[in-house]
Amino acid sequence: MWEENQENQNNINEEKSNKYLKNLLDELEKTKKEIEEERDRTNAIISNLVDGILFFDEKKNISLVNPKAEEILEIKAEDVLNKNILELTKFPIFLPLIDVLGAEIRTLFRKEIKLKENLIFEISSVPLSINQKRIGNLAVLHDITREKLIEKLKNEFVSLSAHQLRTPLSAIKWIIESLLNEEAGKITEEQKELLIKAKISNNRMIKLIDDLLDVTKIEEGRYIGEMTLTNLEPIVESSIDTYKEEIKRKKIRLEVKGLSDNLPKVMADVEKIKIAFQNIFDNAVKYTKEGGKIFVSLNYDEKNKEILIQVKDTGIGIPKNQQERIFTKFFRGSNATPIDTEGSGLGLFLTKNIIEAHYGKIWFESEENKGTTFYFTLPVKESYAEYITKEFY
Ligand code: ADP
Repeated sequence: MWEENQENQNNINEEKSNKYLKNLLDELEKTKKEIEEERDRTNAIISNLVDGILFFDEKKNISLVNPKAEEILEIKAEDVLNKNILELTKFPIFLPLIDVLGAEIRTLFRKEIKLKENLIFEISSVPLSINQKRIGNLAVLHDITREKLIEKLKNEFVSLSAHQLRTPLSAIKWIIESLLNEEAGKITEEQKELLIKAKISNNRMIKLIDDLLDVTKIEEGRYIGEMTLTNLEPIVESSIDTYKEEIKRKKIRLEVKGLSDNLPKVMADVEKIKIAFQNIFDNAVKYTKEGGKIFVSLNYDEKNKEILIQVKDTGIGIPKNQQERIFTKFFRGSNATPIDTEGSGLGLFLTKNIIEAHYGKIWFESEENKGTTFYFTLPVKESYAEYITKEFY
């Protein structure tokens, strides 16, 4: 009887254990299915992405290429999988990619690259980690060929219209000057005053059109011209000189430091650096009220091997909530428009582009009704050469 009971108990236990195992297996099967479904879903997303994806593992070997990347780079995944980034140089289309990523695979955000004629992409590259352990880098290629084409057409339109406007304005300028010089006969004081007003407006229009033409050149990447080894002091001095009359009229106290310090030379497109400094100085003069003060200084920063230029004014300042838009195209501060109704809001956009094209930096500090200080740096010859080398690799 005891044995019979024992056997019954064993049977029950076995049944229980079988049931438990079966449940476990079912559970495992279900989890496996879910993982497979999740993997298939992720694969389907990666395979159907409109952007190309390349994944480089920790050893910088390619471990994933999605179909869009195969299409963009005209390669077959099996030909490149498990190859190191440096081995990819034998595929010419990879060269611009390797150029920006570097052997170490840099982190990049929307860097523009031209893979072929009429094939322009933005590449972003981010390091990926799981549980804080670095597993590699993901590079994403996004086609911007169409946007670039539209931008090019828009630029061509602006450039063509600006050129068409520039010609008659130059003719008007010449006519006004002839009239003012009394080449067409004597003029009265009243006529002279009117002609001077016409000349100022015409010059403003010419400046606006020249700025617009410069913006189109920046956007087409053909703005900066020949770079020469040059001193900044004469550029700053001659720019300030053109404002002598206006500074006197507004009774502004001007202090300039560093003009005779024999600072190291910089590599610069002289004409463009002059435009950059002039835009900053022009704003300081324009937005400083009568009796205010402007301080300009040039310093050599030995540690960073760069020249630091500072333009400080005691003017109207830039409202806090508008400061982040200051370098964007056509931006004008709400407190600036009543002072200068005809500003274009292009000056600082051009200036930032010029300084950055010289590998310099530009920033500012400002407080409304107290004043503004603009700073910009330009690398001296040796550090400029380092930037060029870095960019090349
Ligand atoms: P513009 O001076 O023709 O308006 P900018 O691009 O040179 O165009 O400047 C953009 C805006 O930045 C100005 O409209 C003004 O609001 C602000 N700004 C620039 N410099 C100064 C300054 N020194 N003091 C106060 N505001 C300034």
